[in-house]
Amino acid sequence: MTTKRIALIAHDNKKKELMEWVKFNRGIMLNSEVFATGTTGKMIENEVGITVRCLQSGPLGGDQQIGALIAEGNIDILIFFWDPLEPLPHDPDIKALLRLAVVWNIPVACNRATADFLFTSSLFFSDYKRKMPDFLEYNNRKIE
Ligand code: PGA
Repeated sequence: MTTKRIALIAHDNKKKELMEWVKFNRGIMLNSEVFATGTTGKMIENEVGITVRCLQSGPLGGDQQIGALIAEGNIDILIFFWDPLEPLPHDPDIKALLRLAVVWNIPVACNRATADFLFTSSLFFSDYKRKMPDFLEYNNRKIE
C-alpha cells in the first residue's frame, strides 16, 4: 500500500472532535504523511504525538496552501471538519478549497461519520489510483 498523504483541518468549534478522531486513528496516521493548517496541526502534534507538516493557520492562507498541494497532486485525502454554524473571515478560502478537492477528484470528509467511512474503506488500504480528470480539452480551448 502506498503511503497516503492526508490533509487535516478543523475549525475552532470542531477541533475537539477532530482531535478525538485523529487519536482514534493514530495508527493509520503514523503510517501516513499528515499535513494540516497551523493551529490544527500544532494541536495534533501536542495531543496525539504524531509528526505533522504544519502550514499557515487557515485564516492566514493555510486552506489555500492545502488547495495548492491538491492542485499539484500532493494530497490524497482531505479531512475538513468545517463549522456549519458560524461564518468565518476566510469563508471564500474554504469554498475555494472544497472546490479544488472536487476539481481534482480528491476524497473529502467534512464530518466524522464520512471520515469513519473513508478510513475503514478497503480502498484506503490499497494502491487506489483515483481517476485523474482530463483537462486537456479545457487547457487547449480557443479564446476568441
Ligand atoms: P487552523 O485553521 O488550523 O489554523 O485553526 C483552520 C481553519 O480555520 O481553516
